[in-house]
Amino acid sequence: MAQSFDICIRGAGIVGRTLALHLAAQRLRVALVELESSISTTDVRAYALNASSRNVLQAVNCWPPAPHITPVQTMQVWADEGGYVQFLAADHHAEALSWIVDVPALEHILAGAVRAQPRITLAANPQAASLTVVCEGRHSSSRSDWGLDFDVTPYSQSALATRVVSNVPHKGTARQWFEQGSILALLPINGDSGHDYAVVWSTSPDQAQQLQAFSRAEFEQAIHTASHGVAGTLSLAGERKSWPLQHALAKRWIGNHTEGAWLLAGDAAHNVHPLAGQGLNLGLGDVAELVNILENRPYWRSVADHRLLRQYERSRKAEFALMGLANDSLQQLFTQSNPLIQNVRNWGMNRFNHLPLVKHRIAQRAMGNF
Ligand SMILES: Cc1cc2nc3c(=O)[nH]c(=O)nc-3n(C[C@H](O)[C@H](O)[C@H](O)COP(=O)(O)OP(=O)(O)OC[C@H]3O[C@@H](n4cnc5c(N)ncnc54)[C@H](O)[C@@H]3O)c2cc1C
Repeated sequence: MAQSFDICIRGAGIVGRTLALHLAAQRLRVALVELESSISTTDVRAYALNASSRNVLQAVNCWPPAPHITPVQTMQVWADEGGYVQFLAADHHAEALSWIVDVPALEHILAGAVRAQPRITLAANPQAASLTVVCEGRHSSSRSDWGLDFDVTPYSQSALATRVVSNVPHKGTARQWFEQGSILALLPINGDSGHDYAVVWSTSPDQAQQLQAFSRAEFEQAIHTASHGVAGTLSLAGERKSWPLQHALAKRWIGNHTEGAWLLAGDAAHNVHPLAGQGLNLGLGDVAELVNILENRPYWRSVADHRLLRQYERSRKAEFALMGLANDSLQQLFTQSNPLIQNVRNWGMNRFNHLPLVKHRIAQRAMGNF
């Protein structure tokens, strides 16, 4: 195949589209392989994105307008047996701890921007290019066609997502309960004065199935019990969908095959539990790193230069090692039913809540301020 593109991106999810827009802005010739099914208007999820992700999206004018983004001013976390931690944006002199972003709104704005960018060619099939970037998500077929190792550890949990509306305003407060092996998160949406939450409820596959099968009244009762009524009276306001959860990491993130160099980014390279809302933040971190490396490369190095790709792999694997490990450890810690461990973790949470410096360091990292 003749190479008419510098970069071919396989997969037009949030990571693939954001990367395409950044690379086109560097005047690179980009092909973006988009499956017909790529445009989702029905995703019930809303993502917690940090300040670094916001910068990456703002740089290509794709940060959604209000009310599709909701700044989180307060984050409250409870565990069984009285463990409690609270984070306030004001304590960290931050505009917000994170922003909860409506997924269909973000996908829509990115799809429009891609279509308006003449240096991006949308394609139904992979195109010849100096560098192929695989952004096909966790079930990437390119990754398996090329026989790349993907080290998967399934959690015996599924995440049920939906939307609810409360009788009281959320005032920018995100809440999370770690109880009896399940994790319920209520993420405020629909702007500062909204009453709505995106729900992510990570629990055993059986319970997730049951929650999905419940009548409206049964589900509302279950979520009221699990949230202890703290967020008001909650009414179901969306479809219920669930995702099996896993921790996964590709062994190699870069390489060469007969058609040229390749690189993995986003969920095609790594998966984490959604308990800390870091999956897409990591994927947009991949985008930021690759864009920075290519933008600052010496003029004699091509976009497929092995030394540049190694730099990307080293730096992103290091970041994943840190964030992925923290995420996985939290998941393990909070799904233990051993009473001794439960006592220690509740004691630890309450101690942590009174250690402002440690809290500040951890919050800064999660907010994407390094
Ligand atoms: C319940 C839940 C809640 C979450 N909450 C958060 C959160 O709050 N914050 C956060 O940061 N992350 C969160 N995540 C993680 C986030 O969903 C993922 O990390 C993110 O969607 C990964 O984006 P991606 O573009 O890499 O992959 P995907 O979103 O999977 O996109 C891949 C794209 O590639 C396309 N594709 C697949 N195969 C091919 C092919 N062969 N050729 C061409 N195209 C292909 C797909 O159709 C899709 O459009 C959550 C995940 C779950 C399950």
